[in-house]
Amino acid sequence: MAGSAGPEIERLIGLLAKLPGMGPRSARRASLALLKRRDQLLLPLAEALSVAAERVKTCSVCGSLDTQDPCAICSDPQRDASLICVVEEVGALWAMERAAAFRGRYHVLGGLLSALDGMGPDALRVGPLIARAGEPQVLEVVLALPATVDGQTTAHYLAERLAGANVAVTMLARGVPVGGELDWLDDGTIAQALRARRPA
Ligand code: ZN
Repeated sequence: MAGSAGPEIERLIGLLAKLPGMGPRSARRASLALLKRRDQLLLPLAEALSVAAERVKTCSVCGSLDTQDPCAICSDPQRDASLICVVEEVGALWAMERAAAFRGRYHVLGGLLSALDGMGPDALRVGPLIARAGEPQVLEVVLALPATVDGQTTAHYLAERLAGANVAVTMLARGVPVGGELDWLDDGTIAQALRARRPA
């Protein structure tokens, strides 16, 4: 696609357009805003991207993103090591942390089982979860997965796989709206759903 801007600017627009929630039109507007505010936006953003690319890594224990491995949550002795909360993606982990209602640790699956998208258990971090659930200090695994078909299929599958481990398996209560992604819920709803969790 030949653009009206030069190739460097078209490349910037093309990359921004790949971000979630961005289309070509909003990518053009964002590019223009960046280029017009070189010192306030463009250069600090370039710097932040460079630092993130260099320093942020995936936690080898829980799958979250941090500059340290294990991440700050996994290495925090104040966090309850007997509780593991399973989330779909890091965004859901951030939502749980914003709600400040959970003092255990996390496990990021990296997606949901989906026959449609060809996502099987091997594409997710299921094996490491089963291994962690087998550690003696772990007493409960909370499945904080979305109330969608794929979310519930995944929760059911995990509950079966975890049946062999000596842990309680619970799910968030139905404060979570059907079809709800955790990222979109307000903090109070998450806290309430966590308090009222039930056996899976
Ligand atoms: Zn971690």
